[in-house]
Amino acid sequence: MSTPTRITHHVAGRTWDGPVGRTSPVFNPATGQETGALDLATADEVGQVVATAKEAWASGWGSSSLSKRTQVLFRFRELLNERKEDIAALITAEHGKVLSDALGEVTRGLEVVEFACGIPHLLKGGFTENASTKVDVYSIRQSLGVVAVISPFNFPAMVPLWFVPVAIACGNTVVLKPSEKDPSATVAIADLWREAGLPDGVMNVVHGDKEAVDALLTHPDVKAVSFVGSTPIARYVYETGTANGKRVQALGGAKNHMLVLPDADLDLAADAAVNAGFGSAGERCMAISALLAVEPIADDLIEKIKDRVGKLVTGDGTRGTDMGPLVTQQHRDKVASYLDAGVEAGAELVVDGREADFDADGDGFFLAPTLFDKVSPEMSVYQDEIFGPVLSVLRVQSYDEGLELINSNPYGNGTAIFTNDGGAARRFQNEVEVGMVGINVPIPVPMAYYSFGGWKNSLFGDSHAHGMEGVNFFTRGKVVTSRWLDPSHGGLNLGFPQNT
Ligand code: NAD
Repeated sequence: MSTPTRITHHVAGRTWDGPVGRTSPVFNPATGQETGALDLATADEVGQVVATAKEAWASGWGSSSLSKRTQVLFRFRELLNERKEDIAALITAEHGKVLSDALGEVTRGLEVVEFACGIPHLLKGGFTENASTKVDVYSIRQSLGVVAVISPFNFPAMVPLWFVPVAIACGNTVVLKPSEKDPSATVAIADLWREAGLPDGVMNVVHGDKEAVDALLTHPDVKAVSFVGSTPIARYVYETGTANGKRVQALGGAKNHMLVLPDADLDLAADAAVNAGFGSAGERCMAISALLAVEPIADDLIEKIKDRVGKLVTGDGTRGTDMGPLVTQQHRDKVASYLDAGVEAGAELVVDGREADFDADGDGFFLAPTLFDKVSPEMSVYQDEIFGPVLSVLRVQSYDEGLELINSNPYGNGTAIFTNDGGAARRFQNEVEVGMVGINVPIPVPMAYYSFGGWKNSLFGDSHAHGMEGVNFFTRGKVVTSRWLDPSHGGLNLGFPQNT
């Protein structure tokens, strides 16, 4: 067994050279091996990083020209595109998702960089000439200063890229605190910012746990916090950050439903259920975990899903498998415990993910796709966000019964409807109380130029990520009312003829 590599902070364009204090283990989930020892910052160290970011903002980035910012962004875009395979390999090695999935998340992140490259257009203000006689009014948007980004394990590259390029493009400086579970991709991406010519201190990565998060949430020089993670922590981050005077957007957990109407194309629906239920081992905030089959189609649909699941290979994500391991042994065991809980509560275990063979060496954290039928709303497999490859089918009798279930769920991140009836789909998009809706698509993926975010317990705050909501979140509006006396008005003599 090789010694775990030290993974540390990336501050002011350099690897941190401070002493080692508390550390957290990082694993390769496909082998079970401990590959890294991650430095966890103290509150004092977080304070030093915030001071670096503040200095970088005050000494230039906050007042940098838009052409300078876009030059860096375009270069960063090219570098990220060139190195995306390397970044994907780092993600697979620490998160476990298969390489094609890892590459997909970097590509989605790239799209946000491309969106941010348009910042000169996005930051244009409004102008009103002669709001009153010789009085003009105009609006400008200015940067905030130091902003913090706190991200989850499940998209170690994409979620930071939802925020960091937009924040930097808007003239802010950033302190990013990634998940302790898979930190290496963020460090590699931070180094690309340096290579792209971003001035030192504009983009910094500090690793840590609750101590580091609390230090960011209470630091007076942190002006805004973008958080993504589970609902209890999102609520805590929102409450603590706003109580400390910051603007906060905190995206939380999810329990996403797919409603299949009797007239739907069942092959399309089955493909979608498998893709959205088991892709990335169900560790996606947009994963479908509850499938509402409007009778009489449940038997047919379940047969089709079962057939497809039987063909999936679970194993090491570097070997061309369909699904990788869960992120940690602890998380794998927690997800597996729901299989017993579901059976005890009376659900029917159609496919048991514990019984599969896995294409891997070593002692990875594997659980293959699992399918439950006859789940009812009071069961914990339905109530909890399991965040693993467990798909629960609930049989409902009507569209209305399905809609009622979705709308009474405390989460409201994503949902999908499968139907061939345009009127039903249109009614659903109007009536469903969820932030992101798919119609005959498994899960709506984030599009950089729209904003991404849920409703209810899936979002604390009022701003979604990227798109125009992201630009507004990372800037403050200012309205200027100005009056300039022209030379003919007396008082000034700039050589203009009078009364022209
Ligand atoms: P998590 O809440 O455990 O951790 C998220 C971040 O919070 C990490 O950086 C972590 O270090 C920090 N953190 C953890 N415990 C903390 C505490 N007690 N105090 C302060 N900070 C703490 O989430 P996770 O397990 O890394 O990620 C999975 C969750 O993220 C799921 O619930 C998923 O639905 C959610 N998620 C949501 C979205 C979305 O767009 N809504 C996107 C991705 C993931």
